[in-house]
Amino acid sequence: MKKYSWLLGLLVVLVIGGVIFKHLNTQTTTSDSSKSTSSKATSATSQSDLPAARASDWNLLVVNRDHPHDELNPTLTTVAGVQVDQRIANATTDFLAAAQKVDSAEHLISGYRSVAYQTQLYDRYVDQEMAGAAGTVNAGGGSITRAQAEKNVQTYSQPPKMSEHQTGLAIDMSTVDSLNESPKAVVKQIAALAPKYGFILRFPADGKKSTGVGYEDWHYRYVGVANAEYITKHNLTLEEYVAMLDK
Ligand SMILES: [Zn+2]
Repeated sequence: MKKYSWLLGLLVVLVIGGVIFKHLNTQTTTSDSSKSTSSKATSATSQSDLPAARASDWNLLVVNRDHPHDELNPTLTTVAGVQVDQRIANATTDFLAAAQKVDSAEHLISGYRSVAYQTQLYDRYVDQEMAGAAGTVNAGGGSITRAQAEKNVQTYSQPPKMSEHQTGLAIDMSTVDSLNESPKAVVKQIAALAPKYGFILRFPADGKKSTGVGYEDWHYRYVGVANAEYITKHNLTLEEYVAMLDK
């Protein structure tokens, strides 16, 4: 027996060594796999769950100050008193109904606006800013130049040809008729359910860098369900999303 004690000793060393090695190996594998999971998550943002969409798709048309557009003349349908592109009539009806279940005061304020109408609206706002009218940025203020008045207006309304309301794919929907005055908790819930109906909250608070427009709690844009879900999940703006797609 004594003859084989060295063998037993070797066996013990091997077994213990094996356990330690296995433990270390498991730890390495774990940290490796967590590393690869996080790199997968990063690439997922740009690749694996990206919808099969193209920047030239009708529902991804970008109209903003960098992308002005002549009158589009969309085919229109009236939903709850506002006009929208007929292709989004059902989605708008369903989205409004879902929003009203969250807060019965939810209603549509605006939908399609022609370039001609946007011109009238914009000019009226500029005049009101120059006059320092109540409710304007320059309310009760002194005289300002037209350029300054336009700058003020552009914090809440876009110049003609630069408002996406002309696409017929945008709606303003809120519990109240004034911008950014709906209860925050309600807005949060509506924005969260919007993608299910193909809409996104178009101008989020942290999106100004890419959209050029400050936070708007009432402006929703139809982009289709898959696009809306991706954009919302990855906290993108329409501009950022379209830049990721092929034309
Ligand atoms: Zn709007």
